[in-house]
Amino acid sequence: MLEQLNTTETKSENDSKKTSIYSLQLQQLKDWLSENGEKPFRAEQIYDWLYKKRISTFEEMSNLSKSLRDKLSNHFELTTLKTVIKQTSSDGTIKFLFELFDGYSIETVLMRHDYGNSVCVTTQVGCRIGCTFCASTLGGLKRHLEAGEIVAQVVTVQQALDETDERVSSVVIMGIGEPFDNYDNMLSFLKIINYDTGLNIGARHITVSTSGIVPKIYQFADENMQINFAISLHAPNTELRSRLMPINKAYKLDDLMKAVRYYIDKTGRRISFEYGLFGGVNDSVEHAEELAVLLKGLKCHVNLIPVNYVPERDYVRTPKDKIFAFEKALKKHGINVTIRREHGHDIDAACGQLRAKERKEETR
Ligand code: SAH
Repeated sequence: MLEQLNTTETKSENDSKKTSIYSLQLQQLKDWLSENGEKPFRAEQIYDWLYKKRISTFEEMSNLSKSLRDKLSNHFELTTLKTVIKQTSSDGTIKFLFELFDGYSIETVLMRHDYGNSVCVTTQVGCRIGCTFCASTLGGLKRHLEAGEIVAQVVTVQQALDETDERVSSVVIMGIGEPFDNYDNMLSFLKIINYDTGLNIGARHITVSTSGIVPKIYQFADENMQINFAISLHAPNTELRSRLMPINKAYKLDDLMKAVRYYIDKTGRRISFEYGLFGGVNDSVEHAEELAVLLKGLKCHVNLIPVNYVPERDYVRTPKDKIFAFEKALKKHGINVTIRREHGHDIDAACGQLRAKERKEETR
């Protein structure tokens, strides 16, 4: 596992195609323009077309010369995602199944909150982390997404919202895949959506979640970005965590907690812990007490997630009264805790579920 996780190169089939223009950070685009005999300030104009006007062809970039437009289209792909399925839930949640250039499919979810519209993006086709409760990991990892393919998910959802004059106000990297296993592309994605000349999504409106790839947590802490950071914890002790999440065999709970402390010290930010409640497995008041001890004194918040039913997995839901008892036990110890509100329950909105269904149909 350790060895596997240290390699983050993309699969070779991805190298044969042109780079997505959405993969370029502003400075990278400036550098490319300079190297190609163009003025760097054109980068802002290009960003404006891509992220403010949200055009879908290079041809439409009408304040650029024809020769620059040709250069751009010769070098770059204007990544478009083909919408295969668009499901709208009764609570307004919209789930997209997008097809990529090589035929793989990914999921993106738009969630409606009182405070705005939030998009949940996917970072990999599949996942190799192997969490025992998760649908995303069932078929293993097919490939990493290029930064532009992650950016394009936000742009495409924004284009759908343009019809009603609405805006994507926040982004969560909690879709399919382990973002820290595709670290460089994830980081580029964060920077690209954050530029005020681009989509202008504020750092505090972006959340990234990891299953706990410890060396990357240190690296991420050193980036010192003011974004929201979440750890999928799911267990109060290392034995139970290893049973639920094989990643814990490579990066033990103790080491994870050390990395978390480093992150909090370095960034001054509060951290979130996701704790899925799996009936009869990790959801007793004793587990809550043990969790309170583990998190004592940490600047953190716990998000309790009632398990999403996955047909291939045999976890069952914790009854409501037990969820409240768990929450109460944490509160008693002064831990900040919330129970996650569920979105799109009628449309398989939990990560990996729609794609898993589609994949099953493909292999039938
Ligand atoms: N790979 C990253 C990003 C995924 S975020 C991570 O692990 O953090 C999605 C969250 O939903 C994670 O906390 C994940 O552990 C959790 N999750 C996955 N399958 C679930 C299920 N069936 N029920 C409840 N939570 C689940």
